[in-house]
Amino acid sequence: MSSASIPASARGLDELLERFREDEILRISRDILAIESHRNAPGHETPVATHIRDLLAAEGIAVELREVRDGRCNVIAVLPGTGGGPRLMFNGHTDTVPPGEMPQPFAPRIIDGQLFARGACDMKAGLAAQLYAMIGLKRAGVPLAGDLIFTGVIAEEDGTSLGTLDVIENGPRADMVVVAEPSDLKVIVAHKGFDYYRVEVEGVAAHSSAPHNGVSAIYHAARIVTAVEEDLLLRGLTRSHPLLGSASLNVGAIIGHARNEAGTVLRQGPGVKPPGATVPDTCTVYMDRRRIPGETLELVKAEIDSWLADVRGQLPGLKAEAHFTPACPELPSHPPLDTDPTHPLVRECLRHAEAIAGIAPKATGVPFWSDAALFNDRLGIPAIVFGPGNIAVAHSDGECVPVHELIKATRINAALALSLLGSV
Ligand SMILES: [Zn+2]
Repeated sequence: MSSASIPASARGLDELLERFREDEILRISRDILAIESHRNAPGHETPVATHIRDLLAAEGIAVELREVRDGRCNVIAVLPGTGGGPRLMFNGHTDTVPPGEMPQPFAPRIIDGQLFARGACDMKAGLAAQLYAMIGLKRAGVPLAGDLIFTGVIAEEDGTSLGTLDVIENGPRADMVVVAEPSDLKVIVAHKGFDYYRVEVEGVAAHSSAPHNGVSAIYHAARIVTAVEEDLLLRGLTRSHPLLGSASLNVGAIIGHARNEAGTVLRQGPGVKPPGATVPDTCTVYMDRRRIPGETLELVKAEIDSWLADVRGQLPGLKAEAHFTPACPELPSHPPLDTDPTHPLVRECLRHAEAIAGIAPKATGVPFWSDAALFNDRLGIPAIVFGPGNIAVAHSDGECVPVHELIKATRINAALALSLLGSV
């Protein structure tokens, strides 16, 4: 992108943004919020994807549904460029978490400047801000050099990212991606990845009246948990990322019992004999390891294996093996996000976020994971997270998004597309 294109874009931008209507942005947001798209809703994401398709088609934008699995559809739209310039993709997931205890979750309403509904923050306001930016550019007839693409994807909330994986595999292709997770209008270039591991400990079963005849897998697992806290955690802390700090690790569950009591361990209740009559011969320690950019899966696996070898050396008789544990078949490992903060995608988004919303022009890292990492990791293209709302209220019974952030995000998205894709 040449800096010479910016003054011409700036004039076009003012004209473009003057035509934006807040009532339309809010109407689009309310309409997609009123359509349930959680895992218990009929059709899951497809009704909202169909609504988005019809909305864009009515504006004359090329758009289609693409089935990913079991009738669940991504919605994909392209505003084609004419001059062979770079391609920018707006991406957002169309699913939400279920309503939970939220009052009137599908009756969107504004209270004290906040738009409330299930998915308001995560991430239908973000979708609306991308959709209206695209609609605004189409209506204005601004000739773009590169394509502006929108992908509304399924299955982010269930952890499989099937929708984004389908886009990565089957296109459309882009050179840069903006993922509309709530960022409070900050420009997020980095987040940690995460992977699951388990340590399986073997003991020797014996009757509990004579425990000295057995080897308790639970006692050995307790030693392992202590060693995680006193040693394994510290090994990861030796590395640090400027925006994310160090890696982290959580022991999330321990399941141990005698194999001959497996049937009773998880089936407790009145009339069921409690477990405990046999020295436990199996125990598994489950861990969630958050890795920072630069820490590969191989490096973390090797670190865990080496740590466990040291623990074995200190505890003769310990039989324990560490295993990488796939999060799900479709996405076994969740990579980190690490986009170059000096890339034009980041610089231009920061510039417009400062000009339009007064956001400090500084690229940010966050703790939570997003589909942006997949574009970054699988395709090697820069991806950022940018959207209205605060992740702290996502999934909560008070989920909401500030209306002023929704409006500003829409304007920033349009400004970003205009300056990156350039007028012909
Ligand atoms: Zn989300």
